[in-house]
Amino acid sequence: MDTSPLKVLFLSPEVVPFAKSGGLADVAGSLPPALKRLGMDVRLVMPYYRIIKEKEIESRVVTRDLKVPLGGETLQADVLMTSLVKGIPVYLLDREDLYDRPNLYGTPKGDYYDNLERFTFFAHSALRLMEHLDFVPDIIHCHDWQTGLIPALIKGPYSQSQHFSRTATIFTIHNLGYQGIFPARKFPITGLNPVDFFHLDGLEFWGNISLLKSGIMYSDAITTVSPTYSMEIQTSEYGMGMEGTLQFRQEFLYGILNGIDYNQWNPAKDTHLPTPYSPNKMKGKMGCKEALLQEMEMDSSLKDKPLIGMITRLDTQKGLDLLVTILEKILALDIGLVILGSGDEKIQTAIKKAANRHPGMVGLYIGFNEPLAHRIMAGVDIFLIPSRYEPCGLTQMYALKYGTIPVVRATGGLQDTITPFDKQTGEGNGFRFGPYEAKAFLAAIQQAVEYYKDALVWNQIQANGMQADFSWDRSAEMYSEVYQSILKRS
Ligand code: ADP
Repeated sequence: MDTSPLKVLFLSPEVVPFAKSGGLADVAGSLPPALKRLGMDVRLVMPYYRIIKEKEIESRVVTRDLKVPLGGETLQADVLMTSLVKGIPVYLLDREDLYDRPNLYGTPKGDYYDNLERFTFFAHSALRLMEHLDFVPDIIHCHDWQTGLIPALIKGPYSQSQHFSRTATIFTIHNLGYQGIFPARKFPITGLNPVDFFHLDGLEFWGNISLLKSGIMYSDAITTVSPTYSMEIQTSEYGMGMEGTLQFRQEFLYGILNGIDYNQWNPAKDTHLPTPYSPNKMKGKMGCKEALLQEMEMDSSLKDKPLIGMITRLDTQKGLDLLVTILEKILALDIGLVILGSGDEKIQTAIKKAANRHPGMVGLYIGFNEPLAHRIMAGVDIFLIPSRYEPCGLTQMYALKYGTIPVVRATGGLQDTITPFDKQTGEGNGFRFGPYEAKAFLAAIQQAVEYYKDALVWNQIQANGMQADFSWDRSAEMYSEVYQSILKRS
């Protein structure tokens, strides 16, 4: 029997602590160590973005001459190596003209015009690098559209290579809203044969190329990040045009809930907090609240009132349009509101206007600020996530750990992690609403604000949430099972 560790090549366009735009990066930073704890040999490859260069992390040169096909040409790349944690190498793909840019995927004005080239280059480079290193992966685990080409490449041009003859691929969808759509005329860039790959059962999607569809169609298994979302995306309401494709591959589609990293998100040892706290010593939470009110220049009288928070991309996916609709009504509940977010300018303006109308009651920080995210999570009492759709969502799980009660829309991973509090049984860890309607959202907030006034009940809800365990090890076991099942099959 072969007892050598399972070799996993883990490909994500963003990875904490190197580069992050959303929850995908958190997952890519935490799942590999959990897989390693299960005994796997895991390696990552990612682009060497400017933001990583600026961090001046320690690295060494692997090669300065990796030859990579792109369209009809062969380009050259440098590869550096650093590590995620001890024993997990991260190969950084350095190609200045493609990755040394102010942002990961585009500017507020839109996506970079050459994202197909950038991520096709990434896909070919990752495979060429494995050949160069003589690392033969059993599994290539791809994440989101930026890596969607890889399963097709493995089944197409690279199927000739002895190197990948036993390699199986798995594709994880973190958000179906991002489909990697490009004009059909650019197909030659991919390096795939159009007769074999550009058709209805391939990368073709309404006349365009979709790299997300490539990942769905050609991988040996598809996963998404919660059981409920894995069902939802097969319906026309949530499928965003991909529902037919997903139904077609339903037999190989799994929903595995993300975990969270309790080394980073734990109020007892969170170095960003002025006063750490734990379930048995909750006094520190009030310290965090007072410090947050001061930091956000809010009225100190709010310390005895419900303080409501949001940390989010300012995007309609996240339900910000609902929030804007009922902002005045929320503020009429005699509460404070703290929002940390970046994104849509119209949403920013609407919140700024409300903040001006209610001096001292609204704390607003526009931008991406990780330490502040921790301080808000600890300092607020109630956390809002009214998402239109939510593949998994991480912040509700952070909130639970911080004794901050989530008010969420019952969708995707929010539905799988938040159970409505029931006063009769004392069970439940938050508040939920069903229809995507401002009225339903407001009613759920009102309910939370009502319960806040009853300290005993509130402590019970907090305790229920704080004892929940969403650590990565359980999810990693499930990924391991999927890896084993596709290896057996192939
Ligand atoms: P998504 O990936 O759809 O944006 P998730 O809930 O899965 O949503 O993950 C969002 C992650 O990004 C969380 O770790 C959250 O704390 C973080 N985050 C979002 N916006 C900000 C911000 N403006 N500043 C700091 N962290 C943020």
